[in-house]
Amino acid sequence: LPTTRIDRLLSSMGYGSRSEMARLARAGGITLDGADLTDVSARLPVTPDLPARLRIDGEPLDPLPGLVILLAKPLGMTCSHKEDGPLVHDLLPKRWRRRDPAISTVGRLDKQTSGLLLLTDDGALLHRIISPRQHIRKTYRARLARPLQGHEGPLFASGDLMLEGEEKPLAPAELLPLTPTEALLTITEGRYHQVRRMFAAAGNHVEALHRESLGGLTLPADMAPGTWRLLTEAEIARIF
Ligand code: URA
Repeated sequence: LPTTRIDRLLSSMGYGSRSEMARLARAGGITLDGADLTDVSARLPVTPDLPARLRIDGEPLDPLPGLVILLAKPLGMTCSHKEDGPLVHDLLPKRWRRRDPAISTVGRLDKQTSGLLLLTDDGALLHRIISPRQHIRKTYRARLARPLQGHEGPLFASGDLMLEGEEKPLAPAELLPLTPTEALLTITEGRYHQVRRMFAAAGNHVEALHRESLGGLTLPADMAPGTWRLLTEAEIARIF
C-alpha cells in the first residue's frame, strides 16, 4: 500500500506549506480518527477512507488525488487562461487551485458552449479520454439560425467533410434532427470549434450549443449550470 507523509500530502492538496501544517497540528487543527495528530511527518497509507478519517480544522479532508469532476458548464465561462472571462476552475473550492497535480479540464468547451465538462488531476485518464484514437462519442445539442435542409446528415456522415484550413477530412459524425432548427450531433473528434464549423460548412449557423454526453455519461437534467460533483469509479468506467 502506498504511504505518504501527512504534511506532504496536505501541502500537495493546497492546505499550505509543510511548516504551516506542522504549526496547524501543534495547535490541534489536525485529527486522525478523532485524536489529535501532532507528528505531521508520520506516514499514512493512502486509502479511500482517509478523507473520512483525517480532519483539518474539523472538516473532512478534500478528495484525494485521482479525482474526476463532472461539471455543468454555464455559458460565459472559459476553460483556458488564454481566453478572457472567468474560468470554470473558479466554480471549484479555492484551495483546489493550489493542488499538485493540478486539476485540468478534459478537452475544452467554448466560452459560449454549455453542458457536460469533466475536470481531472489524472493526466493518464485525461489523455485516454481526449485521444482521437479512442473515438469517444461526444453528443451536442445545437440550435440553428436556419432550418435544416436535409443534406446535412449525409454530409456529416460521409467521412470526407473538409473544414477550412485543415488537411484531414472529419471522421463520420451522426446527425439527429429534433426540430427544423434543433439537432443532436455526435462526433468522435475534438477539433477547434468543430460543431460550429461543421454547421457553417453546411451553410448554417449555430446559435446555441450544449454538450449533453461524453461516452456513456450524460449530464443529469437536474444539474444546474455552474454545479459539479465527483464521479464514482463506475461512472468513470462508463466514459469508455
Ligand atoms: N464544438 C464547438 O464548436 N464548440 C464546442 O465548445 C465544442 C464542440
